[in-house]
Amino acid sequence: MTTSPLSYSSYRTYLECPLRWKYLYIDRLPETPHGYFTFGRVVHSVLEELLRPLVVPAARRAGESDSQRTLDEWESRTRGSSEAPWMSCDEMLALYERSWSGEGYTSPDEEARYRALGSDLLRRYYERLVTERPHPIAVEEHLEARWDGIPIHGYIDRIDRGPGGGLEILDYKTSRELSAADAKDSDQLSIYQVLVESNYSEPVEGLTLYHLRSLTPLRVPPRRRASLSGLYDRMGTVSDGIRAEAYDPTPGRQCARCDFRSICPEFRTVPVSDESRLRELVDRFERLRGEEERLGTELRDTAEALHHAAEELGIHRLPGSSTVAVRRREETWQYALDELRPELEERGLAARVPTGRPEEVRRFVRDSSVDPELRRKVAGTGARRVRWYWDLERPERAR
Ligand code: SF4
Repeated sequence: MTTSPLSYSSYRTYLECPLRWKYLYIDRLPETPHGYFTFGRVVHSVLEELLRPLVVPAARRAGESDSQRTLDEWESRTRGSSEAPWMSCDEMLALYERSWSGEGYTSPDEEARYRALGSDLLRRYYERLVTERPHPIAVEEHLEARWDGIPIHGYIDRIDRGPGGGLEILDYKTSRELSAADAKDSDQLSIYQVLVESNYSEPVEGLTLYHLRSLTPLRVPPRRRASLSGLYDRMGTVSDGIRAEAYDPTPGRQCARCDFRSICPEFRTVPVSDESRLRELVDRFERLRGEEERLGTELRDTAEALHHAAEELGIHRLPGSSTVAVRRREETWQYALDELRPELEERGLAARVPTGRPEEVRRFVRDSSVDPELRRKVAGTGARRVRWYWDLERPERAR
């Protein structure tokens, strides 16, 4: 199966539960609308319309790789942008009212509260914009890229030209709470950085989650490439899982807000026609599991009693009615090389005993080219573990 590009939300959904991902992205099952999502969508669309007149797009540099854009011409194109016409606050609020959707709210009261909240935060945001006018080069831009073989895409709320001449990525959040740690740990911002760096020739100089309710920009420096390796591995795991069509349910806290509980095998109830047959099977399984545990305990106790008798009498072969119980010994060695590691590293010998397994250590200890003192030290870290167990032999094999 070829995989479509991964977005941040698709990646996050698969990580939470692959089956939920399948219901959403393969089966395309609709979700119950929720008011807070509708609210976020409406506010985002108004901000997009508000800021679009301020956008001065970067030019694509001729002769450069197709996937790269440049801001070289930005300076000249932004000259005069402070005069760029944009809507008044009243026009923006009128647009907000026209864009409003009551989808997903649980009551008229809840809808009214969200509606007033949106109007208030947009008005305050507008006042802030008048004094801190942004310099966007793109709003709601859809970008695609291949991140070392993994196709990714995303819609980025805003890309600004930063004070240092590079790019600033900004994502609006309408959530109640947002902290600096959210920006620092945001996989979404990391993915956006990869997308922007793959599509523009200018470096990214900042990443911001913008908390609209408090008008607080939570800005962090761009991620260093090395720090993205964990995210890249997780994206690879998700991409491989989707390609392998691995859609096992992973129940967890996310199930409480999952719309697919009625069809999910983790939550579906047994049809009445199968109830008694399945109840019988489960009861039998429970009984057999109990017997298995009881037999396991009895088996261990009996073996223990045989060990006592064998020790007491000094006999390793104990005849029964039809078989002979034969006492066997198994010896294993374990070497704790941790304390010696620095010395082994210093002498360039650590790679000779990388895991500390007995066969490695034995080879090392027998090697006459190694300092005998060090060999003695390595051998001295060993601890022997002896385990006794019983075999049953048929009398014809017994002596
Ligand atoms: S109910 Fe839970 S386990 Fe089932 S699909 Fe939804 S998130 Fe996954």
